[in-house]
Amino acid sequence: MSARILDGEAFASQIHRETATRVSALLRRGITPGLVFIRVGEDPASRAYVSRKETRAREVGISSRTLVLPESTPLSSLLAEIDSLNADPKVHGILIQSPLPSTLPNDQVYARVSPAKDVDGFHPVNFGKLLLGDPSGFLPCTPAGILEILRLGKIPTQGKHAVVVGRGQIVGRPLAVLLARKAVHADCTVTLAHSSTPNLPSITRQADILIGALGRPLFLTQEHVQPGATVIDVGVNRIPDPNSPRGYRLVGDVDFPSVKTVAAAITPNPGGVGPMTIALLLSNTLRATEDACR
Ligand code: NAP
Repeated sequence: MSARILDGEAFASQIHRETATRVSALLRRGITPGLVFIRVGEDPASRAYVSRKETRAREVGISSRTLVLPESTPLSSLLAEIDSLNADPKVHGILIQSPLPSTLPNDQVYARVSPAKDVDGFHPVNFGKLLLGDPSGFLPCTPAGILEILRLGKIPTQGKHAVVVGRGQIVGRPLAVLLARKAVHADCTVTLAHSSTPNLPSITRQADILIGALGRPLFLTQEHVQPGATVIDVGVNRIPDPNSPRGYRLVGDVDFPSVKTVAAAITPNPGGVGPMTIALLLSNTLRATEDACR
């Protein structure tokens, strides 16, 4: 058996087309959605991520720019920049690219972004709305993108057992809540596993839907997967590769070649969750603009 591929690039293109159509309607009214990325420091991976997001934003008609600040930026200066973007009516979405330098407290920085412009969905108000099931908040892009993969991939979810491995703040924890919601394309029974979960394979083998969001290269293998399960690979991990000009290559949390022989459906990595994260970021930005211009 070889699993059906859940093509995140194709699903993301579909969402981008819908976003572009609605952006065109705004442009016709003289409204240009504006998205600002804040990057602090010169982490090469962050530079690459931001540039990819900027390209996609341009393609759908969203105006975007990146504010680059030096690694040594004091907290007070960063907060002042966020305040000025919060007050700028041409800016509808603000994304602070992680990781921030260790000198800057993540929570304080993310909480400074206006909830109405928090298109990443990290602000405590939006996180609280997610928990309450209040649809007026912005959902974090990666978990929301995973729900869209399940929806567009026509994976049944109601009453299914979803096992999420990893309880991180930006993926595993919010995803577990979203999958457990009483809603179409959710309504799962959810197990949230983590590094203290004993005998992990015995848990993951019960999953109809298995999500790897732990950040451990190629960790989930055939022994973790129930035959016929759907497997979603969120991880982005660097492993040394002397044959690559960069000296490393990126791999997911799932050992794709072995798992695809038992799973019924699987996301590739790259080309699965990553493109969907960007698609949901841009659709959140569109919604922020529409809300601001009502
Ligand atoms: P994180 O905050 O570091 O959380 C990792 C989680 O995995 C923790 O809950 C940890 O457990 C758990 N874990 C670690 N080792 C484990 C093990 N051996 N068995 C079971 N659980 C284990 O990471 P994150 O920010 O959620 O990100 C997770 C991965 O997703 C990373 O590779 C990241 O790069 C990737 N990611 C991808 C996208 C995308 O768009 N594709 C977006 C965001 C993140 P404890 O809580 O017990 O420590």
